[in-house]
Amino acid sequence: MPKTPPGLMKLLKKKNITRKDIDKYNCRAFDTYNETALVKCHFCNRSFLEERMKGHFKICKKEKPFNKLEERKVSGSNHNIYENAMD
Ligand SMILES: [Zn+2]
Repeated sequence: MPKTPPGLMKLLKKKNITRKDIDKYNCRAFDTYNETALVKCHFCNRSFLEERMKGHFKICKKEKPFNKLEERKVSGSNHNIYENAMD
């Protein structure tokens, strides 16, 4: 069942809705959206949209959290250096 966003009815009942009231409401609605639509990755502590999270999980592992800088470094020719050392 669809739920009315918190504070919306209260805002609409107000006689003089000011720009500030709307901003305040929008801000709260945005926070709610962020909390519900974004999923936080516990490995790298970044937040993603749920649909993007699926792809992220493939490259972000507990032992080796995804790191943009590191990703750039390992994409070079030496990316197997650690794996080779284990042999
Ligand atoms: Zn991650």
